[in-house]
Amino acid sequence: MEAGRLQLDRNKLALLKSIIEEIPAELELASIEFEGPFITIYVKNRRALAEYQTLAQNIAKKVRKRIVIRVTSDSRLNPAEAKSKILELTPREAGLDPGSMFFDEFLGEVWVKALKPGYLGGKVRAAVLAETGWRLVAQRISPLESKTLRELTGLTLKQAPYRLEFLRKLGERIHRDVVVKNNYVRITALGGFKEVGRSSILVETRESKVLLDFGVNIGALGDPSKAYPIVDVDSLRVDELDAVIVTHAHLDHAGLVPLLYKYGYRGPLYVTEPTRELMAIMIRDLIDVARRSSRYLPFSEKDLATALVHTIPISYDEVTDVAPDMKLTMYNAGHILGSAIVHLHVGPGLYNIVYTGDFKYADSRLLGKSHTVFPRVEALIMEGTYGSTLQEDRLKAEQRLIEIAGRVAERKGVMLIPVFSVGRGQEILLVLNDAMREKKIPEIPIYVEGLVNEVTAVHLQYPEYLNKRVRDLILEGENPFVTENVKLIEGDAARPDIVEDKPCIIIATNGMLNGGPAVDYFRLIASDPNSALVFVGYQSEGTLGRRIKDGAREVSVVIEGKVEVLNVKLEVHSIDGFSGHSDQRELISYVKSINPKPKRIILNHGESSALQALYTLLKTSKEIRQFASSIHVPSNLDSINLTSQ
Ligand SMILES: [Zn+2]
Ligand SMILES: [Zn+2]
Repeated sequence: MEAGRLQLDRNKLALLKSIIEEIPAELELASIEFEGPFITIYVKNRRALAEYQTLAQNIAKKVRKRIVIRVTSDSRLNPAEAKSKILELTPREAGLDPGSMFFDEFLGEVWVKALKPGYLGGKVRAAVLAETGWRLVAQRISPLESKTLRELTGLTLKQAPYRLEFLRKLGERIHRDVVVKNNYVRITALGGFKEVGRSSILVETRESKVLLDFGVNIGALGDPSKAYPIVDVDSLRVDELDAVIVTHAHLDHAGLVPLLYKYGYRGPLYVTEPTRELMAIMIRDLIDVARRSSRYLPFSEKDLATALVHTIPISYDEVTDVAPDMKLTMYNAGHILGSAIVHLHVGPGLYNIVYTGDFKYADSRLLGKSHTVFPRVEALIMEGTYGSTLQEDRLKAEQRLIEIAGRVAERKGVMLIPVFSVGRGQEILLVLNDAMREKKIPEIPIYVEGLVNEVTAVHLQYPEYLNKRVRDLILEGENPFVTENVKLIEGDAARPDIVEDKPCIIIATNGMLNGGPAVDYFRLIASDPNSALVFVGYQSEGTLGRRIKDGAREVSVVIEGKVEVLNVKLEVHSIDGFSGHSDQRELISYVKSINPKPKRIILNHGESSALQALYTLLKTSKEIRQFASSIHVPSNLDSINLTSQ
């Protein structure tokens, strides 16, 4: 044991030594700390930093760790002096809001808001650090403010002392030494296998344990045996978990994360920046809906807040150490804003897993298509929601939507598009705004109500996660989602007045008409043959949306506790080409395009029949057979030893 300890110290010492070698003496090194996945170098002589602007990158390249340089607290200017210095050093074009400056004394960071944070690049930040001792963190001032982002920023700043302590403890844990050399990699299916909902996978090595996604099946909320991942949270030993990694904000991937914190998990939650905000919005809404419909939810707002304090947001394409033998990189998945394909490198050089989460292998009006090139891949865990389905071509889908809008405008009716808050709502807005600008349809009002507004604000906050065209528009200061025709409805809306403002388009949550303002709008226009109801997303069994889509023309809705029977006389359309999931053709083509080629393919996130169809196609493809020697369709609770031959 003692010998092991010595070995352990030796490895860490070697790392520290190779860092120290790179730090010029004049910087006056004070200490080196492990802060979460980062190694932080504290120096006393801030002025000397001006000469060494690329020092952090150089050291990072050498030791293959993420390096941050901070100035010790006694060498920083006081906030008042720092503030005027920062205003002097930042270019006017950045549009910095002086009132927004906030100083985090614990981390030595100053948070600012700017119209164009692009102007606060590496050079400006380096100058601010050298002149004031504070690290500049910039947020975009969005034309539509995200309340969630404001709250999250407040929460993070309020918890700053705790967060520093958490990061230091985590840093020690991540950089603990690997004791056992002969390692293995095993995955266990905890949920979302041969089904959609409650996605979760446990990845274990001899050294570490990582959880990928921890979702909830909303449709089965009344029955925990069907709604939650199959795991007794006690037997999972949450204190043994090194990390939880969530691919995207949808509830079937992120919805049950607060439960882990309720049961005492205090480790990190790795997500992309937009996912952090979107999951806060979605889970809050879930808590709200559960409360209003008196359905039981096993966690509260408090557990969500605990989860958010432990969140470590990371950007696409950044390699981050999450355990002594595991490196995580997230790549664009093309599914919703911030959605990620997870690449896990188990090392050194042992094994590489790519987990797609939900992904779209085609460009959309909002996002670029999913990433295909990885440093190494041995196993591909891929979703197969549409494994047996071919979707309508996207351009045709857009054309149909525009045609229906044109007809409704001519007849002076109302077009109602029920959407979920994330993804489709923003995309439909882009399609309709473009069509109006190109005069393909007349300019008529587009009313938007529900969570979709808050979510649109998050989209405007993170243009770098959107495709190039939309990103450039936002960076130029435009708001491609909210044009002058778009009216955002907040609070108690005068819905009866809105449906009288004919012709108009209404986009409202939720997407399957099983709640939200969309139901109320539907009730108001159901009997009007000049109006149209257009579904743009999947309609689950048992929802009002599904019944209407399947042809029901007399339906009942519950409005304020009263049952009302409606005669459906409006036109009903369903357009499936806007899906955020790859269809069968795209799934097959993704497997063929991924580079390098996986030896194993594991299918999840799809009904049995969809996964079976996909399995057969993969198995019978000569091209795929050449590289993939095994293809699995596991059931929940199955484990696979990936490192066995
Ligand atoms: Zn999803
Ligand atoms: Zn999903």
